[in-house]
Parts: sequence; structure tokens; C-alpha cells
Amino acid sequence: MERIILIKYGELTTKGDNRNYFINKIYDNMKLKLSHYDVRIVKNRVRMFVYVDDMYIDEVVDIIKNIFGIHSIVIAYKVNSNVSDIETGVLDAVKNVSFKTFKVETDRADKSFPISSMDFSRQMGALILKNVPNISVDVHNPEYLLKIEIRDDGTYIYAKEIKGLGGYPVGVAGKGLLMLSGGIDSPVAGYMAMKRGIKLDCIYFESPPHTSEAAKNKVKKLVKKLSVFQPNIDLHVINFTEIQEAIYKNINPEYMITIMRRMMYRIAKRVMDKCGLLVLINGESVGQVASQTLTSMRVINEVTNVPVIRPVACLDKLEIIDIARKIDTYETSILPYEDCCTIFLPKHPVINPKLELAKSYEDNIPYEEMIERAVTNMETINISYLEEDFDI
Ligand code: ATP
Ligand code: MG
Repeated sequence: MERIILIKYGELTTKGDNRNYFINKIYDNMKLKLSHYDVRIVKNRVRMFVYVDDMYIDEVVDIIKNIFGIHSIVIAYKVNSNVSDIETGVLDAVKNVSFKTFKVETDRADKSFPISSMDFSRQMGALILKNVPNISVDVHNPEYLLKIEIRDDGTYIYAKEIKGLGGYPVGVAGKGLLMLSGGIDSPVAGYMAMKRGIKLDCIYFESPPHTSEAAKNKVKKLVKKLSVFQPNIDLHVINFTEIQEAIYKNINPEYMITIMRRMMYRIAKRVMDKCGLLVLINGESVGQVASQTLTSMRVINEVTNVPVIRPVACLDKLEIIDIARKIDTYETSILPYEDCCTIFLPKHPVINPKLELAKSYEDNIPYEEMIERAVTNMETINISYLEEDFDI
């Protein structure tokens, strides 16, 4: 008997006008993520159906579980919409499961089917009782709930619903730039932004030889982890050495981090313009370090007027770590490689920087031309979910 994967959409069901656009995005994302399987995907306004060789069903479901915009996934038996085929399907479905109590629910979307939903549920309940020993019906709290959807293209019989990721399909909200360090917070911020439908590019600032090739590979590995949710991600690598050394030589140590971060924001803005990206996303969290006090954020953010989304701004570190574990970035993030923020780290970074002071210090370095050079020499690496894993 044929088994197929049936997909129920998430939140998008409430968004009238955008509905088709959302469904098409899910469809495109599914096609991309399943491109190495011989699958057929059929979509309509309420459901999506995936046909694939039975032996790959579990693997394919595991991939679909990580696609945003999907509320739930079921593996269903598909039969023709006539009583005897449905009976065979129902008996097949209950064959290898064990339960003490059960209930059958029928949804008769195809009104040409001659038996009412209620009557048919009862009829199928009786059939199961006759064929499976030592069980009983419990309509309130059944251990096993069998659903029968009778549609004009066929009847779907299934029990377990697998929870999808929810959220909006990646891409429906437009594109943004994630500032990705090797830390715990920024990959989580990226995941949360993707969940709202933002397609990511990533930017990484490196300072060779003060930061190593291994540190860069760690960031690539994190991008690869994020590509589970967005099949292709562009990683823009900026050589930050010249700017960092200039800061180190010329700036009051208290203000080094403030100014370094102002430079990062300036460069990010340039990259956004160059690549057509609408928002900046980062892993700043209020109060976590000196550069993340409200005063610091304000002085740093002052260099640009692009919208900055900080998905983890109001989460506790432990809440961020929970998500990092769930999306499998945590173990990579805690690998001990230097970041350009951690080298040249001053002993006492200013907690309440003054904007006028920051401006007057940074005017000591010819940063416009340095930024120009850094952006011109930017290296862009496209990382796909099919990529081999990166060795660190
Ligand atoms: P994370 O855990 O993400 O590294 P953090 O708590 O260490 O964050 P900071 O080092 O102050 O905090 O960085 C704040 C944010 O700035 C990061 O979450 C990231 O978005 C961005 N950022 C920091 N360093 C880099 C870098 N080298 N390249 C790109 N973005 C960076
Ligand atoms: Mg960091």
C-alpha cells in the first residue's frame, strides 16, 4: 500500500493575500532541500504531498522537519476513496502498532462519499475492534487516534502527527545580513531571524594572522549548520586586520571595542548596500558585556540608520544556549578559537561611552579608505547544505 508524506502549513494559513506566495516559497525550499532525492511534490492551498520511494520516507521527513512554515507532517496511507480500499488501509495502519484505547476521526471533504463522517468513524471503529484483540474505544483520551481524510483525489489514513518547525518560510520577509562570529549567540540570532522568514547572508570579520584559519573554518562550519534551515548561504569574509591594528595603535584602550564595533557596523552597511540586504542581524544581548550596555549600543548603532534586529537581545544566556543546542550549533560554538573581538581586548572597556569622545578618537585614523579597501577585498563563499563538513 502506498505511503506518502502529507504536510500541513503553519501560521501562513491566517495570511489571506500572501498565502500563495508563502506556499510557493515552502515549495521552492522543499525542492531545494530534497533535490538529491527522486521526489514528486504536489501542492494545493491546504496541503502539500510528497511522493518518494517508501524506503526514503523517514529520511525525507527528517529533512522536512527543519523547513520553516510547516505546522505538522504525517506519514499517510493513500487509498482510493471507496469503502473496501479504505478498510484495507485502516487495517494496514493498525497492524503494527500497539495500543489499548483508540478513536477514529473522519474528515469527509469529498461530499460525494456516501457515508457521513460520524457513521464512517463508527463503522471503521467496529472494524478495528473486530480485528485487534483486547482494545476498546475511548473518545475523550484515546491512546491511538486514527484519522481518515476522504478527499476527491483519494483518502489519507494516518495516526501520528510530527511537529514541524512553524515560523514563516525562509525568504518571504526578504534578505538580511547576519553578523556571525564564532560565538554562541550569533548563530542563534540567525536561526531566529530565519524563522521569521528572513533569508540570510552572513558577514564574518577576521584578523589574520592574529586570528587563525581554524577560527574561520569554525565560522564556515556554523554556516553549514545554519544551512539546514536555508539551503544556500553566502558568507562574506572581511579582512579586518588593518583597521584593528590601526585601532590598537591609535585609540584610547577604553574605547577600542566601541570603535571597533562602529567600524563593523559601517562595513556591514556597505555590504548590505552592495548585496541588496534590508536589515542587519546580530547576537547582541542586553548587558552581557561592556559593548552591550544600552549606552554602548546607542553609541555603536549611531553610525548607521539601517534597522538592526537583535533576536537574542532579551534572552538569558541559558535560554540562548538551549536554542543553540536544539539547532546543533552549541558544540561548534564552544570550540576554543580566538575571535577578532577577543584579541587586543582592553582590560577596562568603557561601559558608558560618550559619542563625542568616540568620534574624536576615531577621527585619528583614516578609516574611510580602510573600510573601502576591506569591502573591495571582501571574499564571498557560498555554503550549501550539501557541502562536506569543514575540518577545524
Ligand atoms: P557571540 O556569542 O555571537 O560571539 P558575544 O556575546 O561574544 O556574541 P560580542 O563578541 O560582543 O558578543 O559580539 C556581539 C555580536 O557582534 C555577535 O553576536 C555578532 O553578531 C557580532 N560579532 C562579533 N564579532 C564578530 C566577528 N568577528 N564577525 C562578525 N560578527 C561579529
Ligand atoms: Mg563573540
